[in-house]
Parts: sequence; C-alpha cells; structure tokens
Amino acid sequence: MRSFILNENEMNELSKKQSTPFMVLSLDKVEENYRFLAKHLPRAKTCYAVKANPHDGILKRLAALGSHFDVASAGEMEMLAAVGVTGDRMIYANPVRDRCGLETAAHLGIRRFTFDDASEIPKLAKFVPGADVLVRIQVHNKKALVDLNTKFGAPFTAALPLLRAAEEAGLHAAGICFHVGSQSLSTAAYEEALLLARRLFDEAEALHMHLTDLDIGGGFPIPDADGLAVNLANMMEAINHQLERLFPDTQVWTEPGRYLCGTAMNLVASVIGTKMRGQTPWYILDEGIYGVFSGILFDHWTYPLHCFGGKGKTVPSIFAGPSCDGIDVLYRDFPAPKLAIGDKVLVTDMGAYTTVSATHFNGFALAPVLVYEEQEALIGHQQENDEEKEASM
Ligand SMILES: *Cc1c(COP(=O)(O)O)cnc(C)c1O
Repeated sequence: MRSFILNENEMNELSKKQSTPFMVLSLDKVEENYRFLAKHLPRAKTCYAVKANPHDGILKRLAALGSHFDVASAGEMEMLAAVGVTGDRMIYANPVRDRCGLETAAHLGIRRFTFDDASEIPKLAKFVPGADVLVRIQVHNKKALVDLNTKFGAPFTAALPLLRAAEEAGLHAAGICFHVGSQSLSTAAYEEALLLARRLFDEAEALHMHLTDLDIGGGFPIPDADGLAVNLANMMEAINHQLERLFPDTQVWTEPGRYLCGTAMNLVASVIGTKMRGQTPWYILDEGIYGVFSGILFDHWTYPLHCFGGKGKTVPSIFAGPSCDGIDVLYRDFPAPKLAIGDKVLVTDMGAYTTVSATHFNGFALAPVLVYEEQEALIGHQQENDEEKEASM
C-alpha cells in the first residue's frame, strides 16, 4: 500500500497559498487504510486510537465509515462529542483514569473500559456502575518499536481474579484486551497473545464467567517504514485466521492508531538557513523537533525526507530545526543535493504522533494542517492534468 505523497507540482501550488511550514492531510488515504483493514481483518471492529491524530477531519471521516474510537482522556472524548460521536462508540482504553475523565465518560454514556489493576475497580464502580470491563494483560513482543508492556498490563495469573473482583463490585466482566506494542512487525506476537487470551476465556468459562469481548489493541505498522517491508495484508489475514479458529463467537475489537493515519500526511517545509561545517552542509528548516518532528523523540521515528530544487550530486548533509536548542537536529548524513535558502523539502508518513506532540517552544507557531481533498487550487490543477491526459489519449 502506497503512502500519500504530494508531487512537486502540488507542493508548489499549495505553497503559493500557504507559507511553510504546513502539513497536508489526505482523508481519502485514511479511508483507504480503514477499508483495507476491514477487508483483511473482517473479524475485528475498528476503534481508532484518537491519540495518534485527533484532527477533526479524520474523526469525522472515520465516524462516517462506522468506526468506533479508543479514548484516553476527557479531552479526547470531547473532541469526538464535538463531531457528533456518541459514547456508545467509544472505549475508554486508558487503564488508569482521572476524575475528570470518569465524570465525562459517565456524562457521555461510555460503557466500555479497560483496566489492569484492582485499584481501578472502586473508581469504575462508583462513576460507571454496571459498565463492561476488559482486563488488559501483559504480552511480550521484542519486535515492536514502542514497547507498551513495561508500563501496562496485568500478569496473566491476575487476569481472572481481577475480572472476578470487578463483578463483585457490580461491574460486568466482558473480556480481555492486550496491546502488542506500537509499530509491531511481528504477527507471531499477536498469535501468542491470542493463545494466552484463549486460555483465559476457557478458564473463565470453567469459573462460570462467560466472556464475550476480545480487544487485540493497536500496533499495526506503517508498511515500508525505515526500509522494512511488512506485508500488511498477510499480517492481517493471519490474525483474522487465528481469530476465526480461536474466537469464532467472540466480539473482537482492534484499536489501530498509527496504521490508520500515519501514511496520510506530509509536511512541506523550507530551508531558512545554510552553512558549511568542514565538509558537511547544514540546512536549517522552518520546522523542527519542538514542532511536528517531535515524533523523532517521543515516537522514536525517522520520516522519509524528499529534496527538490537542489543542484549537483548528493552529499551527506545535516538538517536541523529552527529552535535555539542543540537537540533540534533532524537528519544526519542525509544524502542531499545542494540546497539554497527558500528551497522546499517534503517529509512523508507524518500522520501519526506528530502534530499531537508539537509545541510552541521558542515562540514558533504550530504548522497548520490543510486537507488535500479540500484544496481548490489543486483540484483545478488536477482537472487540467486529467484533461491533458484525455487529450493525449
Ligand atoms: C496508543 C494506543 C493504541 C494505538 O496504538 P498504535 O500503535 O498507534 O496502533 C491503541 N490502544 C491503546 C490502549 C493505546 O494506548
């Protein structure tokens, strides 16, 4: 599956209307990713993990497609409520909740919650009595970029006692959930986790607790990131096959974040300064690590960088952001042509964990987000191109 990538012409057209830095988001690409998952993993219903990118265009498009949503705070619930998503389509999947989150969840009518410790039970019983709860179990996966199991998940042996205690407190023990870690490249991690979950479902049945829901979390990778080729269709189909085999009668949920929006957004930035240090050219961009490149730090990510307008052969170069901090270096040894002030660069696969963690550090404004499908300038241009194509056929 190809990422959304602006061509040079589109980038230049947009730059006439909007000064850099800016982001361009393709909602059609988000939809394509959603449909691809539904096609290859039909056993699971999608709950989009809002934290990856809460742009209201994404929320609206996914809501229209029938998606459910995974929320972690009152703020995320309110963003969804503002675009008309009701609480019955949300799961509050942050296993530890604050008072504000619990009050808002109760107010909006959210009925599904995950937890991984007994200390959460009295809170849930008080604010959302009778709600469906899923216990999050710890699973292991060395092949994930971001390991979530060092912070989250109950030990396997604690899962059923936790569900039992939840029932005794008047909650409804609905099932099991896990998260194999983000940008997981391993299908085996899902398969192992599914086997563990199946054992818990069987043991629960023996204890007269009938579990109905399984939530396999997020973690689906962005294909081809960092030169790693992952066959997503195969991965999803293998998981679907295991679900058919192990959980034929269970309601299954998945909580993708990165996968749905990661490949749908580009950054357009400009070179605002240059210098030579030894043999190495430096290019200072108008967007940096305190902006949408924050994912380099928080998300351990490297984004594909595309240079235009440069002359001559490529040499290993350094790209840095505009802030006055030495940490604000984005690419080292990047083979770039010679660039000049005013040249633009395009950075792709910037849809997940980028804008959400950007800051105003040093007084720089947040990069605005344009929706690709709403750009009249491009649409006009696109039609001209199409007409040209037709004329030449
Ligand atoms: C972050 C998160 C997700 C989304 O993870 P991705 O790796 O982006 O798919 C899903 N569920 C929970 C509980 C999360 O915390």
